[in-house]
Amino acid sequence: MPQHAAVLDNAVGSSRRLLRSRLGRRLLGLFIGCALVPTCTVALLSFKSVTKQLTRQSQERLTALAGAAGKTLVDRLSFFESDLRRQAPKLLACATARASSAHSDCGDVLLYAAEGVGAFPGSGAGLRLLSGEAAALRTLTPAMLPKLGPGQSTLVSLSSEPAALQLYVVHRPETTREVLLIAHLSTNYLWGPADAEGLPGNVALRLQDAQSLVLLGSPSDNSASLTAAWSLPRLPLFLIPSWQVVLSEPRADVIAPITGFARSFPAVLALALLAVVLLSLSQIRRSLVPLVELGKGTRRIAAGDFHTSVQVTSGDELEELGGAFNAMTGKLARQFHTLETAAEIDRAILSSMDTATIAEAVLDRVPEVCPCQGLSLTVLGPEGEAQARTWWERGRVRESRAMIMAQLSASDLVQTLQQPEWMILGEEGIPVPGYLAHLGENGKSSVVACPLHYGGELLGVLALCDAPGERSNETLLDFRRLADRVAVALSNARMMDQVRVLAFFDSLTRLPNRILYRQRLGQAIGHAATSRRRVAVCVLDLDQFARINDTLGHDLGDQLIQEVALRLQGSCRQEGAAVGSGTEALGIQVARLGGDEFAVILPELGEAEEALWAARRLLEAFQQPFRLGAQEVFATASIGIAVYPDDGNDPETLHKNADVALTHAKEEGRNTAELYSASMNGEALGRMRLEHELRKAVEHGEFTVWYQPIVELRSRLVTGAEALVRWEHPDRGLVGPLDFIALCEESGLIVPLGEWILRDACDQLKRWREAGLDGFKLSVNLSARQLRQRGIVRTIQDILDSTGVRPSALAFELTESLLMEQGGTTERRIRELAELGVTLAIDDFGTGYSSLSYLKNFPVSTLKIDRSFIVDVTTSPDAAAITTAIIALARAMELDVIAEGVETKGQAAFLRDRGCQKVQGYLFGRPAPRALFTDFLLARQRRRVSA
Ligand code: C2E
Ligand code: MG
Ligand code: MG
Repeated sequence: MPQHAAVLDNAVGSSRRLLRSRLGRRLLGLFIGCALVPTCTVALLSFKSVTKQLTRQSQERLTALAGAAGKTLVDRLSFFESDLRRQAPKLLACATARASSAHSDCGDVLLYAAEGVGAFPGSGAGLRLLSGEAAALRTLTPAMLPKLGPGQSTLVSLSSEPAALQLYVVHRPETTREVLLIAHLSTNYLWGPADAEGLPGNVALRLQDAQSLVLLGSPSDNSASLTAAWSLPRLPLFLIPSWQVVLSEPRADVIAPITGFARSFPAVLALALLAVVLLSLSQIRRSLVPLVELGKGTRRIAAGDFHTSVQVTSGDELEELGGAFNAMTGKLARQFHTLETAAEIDRAILSSMDTATIAEAVLDRVPEVCPCQGLSLTVLGPEGEAQARTWWERGRVRESRAMIMAQLSASDLVQTLQQPEWMILGEEGIPVPGYLAHLGENGKSSVVACPLHYGGELLGVLALCDAPGERSNETLLDFRRLADRVAVALSNARMMDQVRVLAFFDSLTRLPNRILYRQRLGQAIGHAATSRRRVAVCVLDLDQFARINDTLGHDLGDQLIQEVALRLQGSCRQEGAAVGSGTEALGIQVARLGGDEFAVILPELGEAEEALWAARRLLEAFQQPFRLGAQEVFATASIGIAVYPDDGNDPETLHKNADVALTHAKEEGRNTAELYSASMNGEALGRMRLEHELRKAVEHGEFTVWYQPIVELRSRLVTGAEALVRWEHPDRGLVGPLDFIALCEESGLIVPLGEWILRDACDQLKRWREAGLDGFKLSVNLSARQLRQRGIVRTIQDILDSTGVRPSALAFELTESLLMEQGGTTERRIRELAELGVTLAIDDFGTGYSSLSYLKNFPVSTLKIDRSFIVDVTTSPDAAAITTAIIALARAMELDVIAEGVETKGQAAFLRDRGCQKVQGYLFGRPAPRALFTDFLLARQRRRVSA
């Protein structure tokens, strides 16, 4: 029972749902209308027709009955009248006899159906009863009787109401003019109960006169009855009033057969309606449920649910429509899935900027769109096919995923370029090429390979293997579309690689640059923090690279940097191998920080000293000369080392401290490695402070120029003086140039300072000349940085012009290394200076790398032998030999020679003996302020300088 109730509930519920639907209501209304309108119309028409038919039939029957009844009445009246007529003689006789004797017997005169017979004898005489009862006859008077001709009869009626109808037949016999025979007719004779029974029970008869006064029978409601009338005919001798026999039958009885139908019709109609409703609902359900299903399905699609399907089992076109709908959603779902997957692939591969991540995304996602037995992505290297890598996976088994190196042959490339869309390999005799052999191994499947082109460049090949029968054209197109996306992603990745290389790698050496070095140092520190090990930073700077660069030119300088990078990498590789791992794995990193500065990160150290040993091994890489073009050059380097966590906890501090250690290493005489110690930092800070003070000193003019005489050895005459700058420090007193000139050069402060020195020196020279202290050359030091300065020649010219100093009275002392830069700006500048007319001298000669042959190419007229040779000239045979050689060669080349730093008479004697003309040194005069030097000059005028 509960089950039935549930079914019923379900049916009612679904019906309600249907009726809530507008289409359901409309269809239901339509069905009901279609069923009811014709039914009711037919019923109504049938009702009317049957009613009419019944009425007509009843009418005809009534008419026939009325005629028959009327004829019966007429027959009976006619018979009665003819009976009276026949008995008339007898009755006349009887009447006559009565006239004479009131007791004459007329008993033999019997009139059938007469209740009484009388006669009016005429002449006003009263009625003479001839037979029967007189009562009914006596109401008649002769006046009531019509005039009758002889032999004529008439029917007379007296009635106030039908129940009291009195019928009389009056006859005037032919034989008499006066006597009228009157017979009182029994109404029962005329129409008795037996007659009434002869009629159908519901049919009533009435006799009515011309005024519709009912004579016989009972009046009836004409509107509620069906009537038929028959008029009594007029007979020649028997005057019958124009009476009518009217038969009536209640209409209700007439239409009784149809009334039952009419009564049962609403019930039938209701049943029909119910049937219609139920049938309609079932039909509507059959149509509407699929429609609702389809509607819901469509809404689900509109909401983006493409995996929807509808269940329509109506067995008609709607089911076909449902099938088509499901097919459509299936197709849409597949297309959207393809699009979504493609979009995901886009996101995955376009957001990942390295090839390996893109390859992973491709292997993850592509099989979702293009079902396959195996997938591979071959990516050509940036340099071409030789360095191709292939990522592949078989049967969506992640464990089978691998990356292998691949090589595309020239014919592979030609084949790939000939088929820009896709290649079907392993079918129709087209072999699977070697670089895709891993996909077609079992020989049962074929390989579809899509070349990956972007921007006219072949970037790789995306290939899948599948069974030939499983592949649809749609899959091929999807695969091609995905391949295009992969090509874009690979192109992006390649571009990003290039950008990365540009951003993070040094273009000259391909080593990581400063940015990447900082990152990697941070990583190494992070790693060391967890592993509780040490990380060392070695900052390496080539010794006097500027000089090498100046000497050999920038091209060879760059070449040297490249060679150094290679040697450092090689050395680090050995270092990594020594501890059992390669450079990359161990994380030993070499970076170029700029110029001639390199950095090496040494991770995973146990002790700080290990860094020092490693740094010394790095320096060993410089033991062999570097071959640069046609020549071999020796270069050394200095290394500063800072160790995490001893010397700093972050990359910045560590690097800064390694820099401090480097400076220290340089100061320690170069070609050495120094571990940072806290005291060094003070030195670095001191340098920074000094630089700051120097800037202020340049601004405030805290410098002064001192002068040291240059003396001709033989004559002891002062032939020149060197201008040497001094810093009158407000706190520290007088500071010598060795303490600040190098820093001025590094910081560029030498440019304004050098200009000021030259101007001051020229001013002084002018004053001396004006004071008559004339005839000597003033030497001014010109640093390399000054010489490279644009506009230096013009500046010098301006100073000469403004002070009125003759160029010939001025000599510039240049460093030896400047002469090595042949053909460059420096050479041009030197020539321009010479063209001014000033003398050019090479300062500190012998410490640089130049050979004397260079001097031939430059307008240099003087060599100043470096003090380091002179100081040992009397004690060291090497120094003596070098000095002797320099003097001899200079003389051979007709160059002036000045020996610097002559402090002893022995040195002076040695030099004189070797033919050196001029000397400069404490033996002949220390550098002195201008006032002192002026006095010195004045004194010199008086006597030759004595040593
Ligand atoms: P320099 O040009 O070779 O100058 C000679 C240096 O040798 C001077 O040192 C001088 O005092 C020193 N000297 C001369 N004779 C003797 C001697 O007998 N014994 C010893 N022990 N030293 C002697 P100073 O003045 O300290 O200058 C050092 C260097 O600073 C100069 O070497 C020069 O390279 C640079 N310098 C000095 N003044 C200037 C300047 O105005 N401009 C530039 N660019 N550099 C300057
Ligand atoms: Mg000098
Ligand atoms: Mg010198």
